[in-house]
Amino acid sequence: MSNSCFRMSKERITADKKKIINNDRTVDCNQLVPIKYKWAWNFYLDGCANHWMPSEVSMQRDIEQWKDAKAFTAEERHIVKRTFGFFATAETLVGNNLVLAVYRMIDNPECRQYLLRQAFEEAIHVHAFQYIVQSLSLDEGEMFNMYREVEAIYNKDQYAMSCTDGILDQNVDTKTKEGLQKFVKNLIGFYVITEGIFFYSGFVTMLSFGRQNRLPGTCEQIQYILRDESIHMNFGIELINNIIAENPEVWDEPFKEEIIGFIRTAVGLEHKYAEECLPNGILGLNTYLLKEYVQYIADRRFERLNLPKQYNSENPFPWMSEVIDLKKEKNFFETRVTEYQTGGALEW
Ligand code: MN
Ligand code: FE
Repeated sequence: MSNSCFRMSKERITADKKKIINNDRTVDCNQLVPIKYKWAWNFYLDGCANHWMPSEVSMQRDIEQWKDAKAFTAEERHIVKRTFGFFATAETLVGNNLVLAVYRMIDNPECRQYLLRQAFEEAIHVHAFQYIVQSLSLDEGEMFNMYREVEAIYNKDQYAMSCTDGILDQNVDTKTKEGLQKFVKNLIGFYVITEGIFFYSGFVTMLSFGRQNRLPGTCEQIQYILRDESIHMNFGIELINNIIAENPEVWDEPFKEEIIGFIRTAVGLEHKYAEECLPNGILGLNTYLLKEYVQYIADRRFERLNLPKQYNSENPFPWMSEVIDLKKEKNFFETRVTEYQTGGALEW
């Protein structure tokens, strides 16, 4: 693990000496400038420009709709609750992994600047689900225990956490190939699988309600979370690809095969989760379409990691791309305009 934080050299630091991970004593992790990885700094600025708080979003219409016994079928209530139950703890898992595993290992200051921003965004996302659960008067015990009481959710969370244990071991040395592979697998488990795949059936489910003008305050928050998560994932993939470029020996054929299998198993767990959430389908959504979508999303992630596509599925929800391409100016369902952004519009 990195321990270069307080070993200052007397020489001035130049950008070319910096690395993402395993910096030697000529580089000091307290010194942001000169910036080498401009993409990391730009992700930090984009994250700040997207700032939002759950409590700014009105839940009034959601509360009225949720209280109306006729407004949702039992199946619809089931999938909405499953989605909240999954996110309520998954956001905390991601935040904990970030602070306890990723931050320790990454000793480049511009990457850490983004990690600090991301950690706060994860706290905002946890806050959002707490706020939604409280606003709709859902059973807090049921919602926040779902990750241990609902098998399909437990299995997803266990799978993500399985690659944290190895990293928290103080003996893992990222200067060895095996140690660095463990760490890269952890980054893929969180940035690519959890934030880049496991979150997306939840997004598509909730935004399907939003398209019908149902649960508008919840869906506005989900849109902001989706926008944040897509930056998290893009930062993570850039981080992974830069670590590989600087340490090409880790990305050998057996490890690539391991990662393909790792992601494919995650897609299988997501299929099981879809079956549990949507046994009979609801308006516009069913298990088949959700599975297609998860495969389509997974193929996009394989491409970004320069790995072969595995599924060749069509995108059954082309409207999701419009939501993802959303600029900051107004939210997709036009519930209201939030404007923190002071600079130019985001480019996605
Ligand atoms: Mn999050
Ligand atoms: Fe995230």
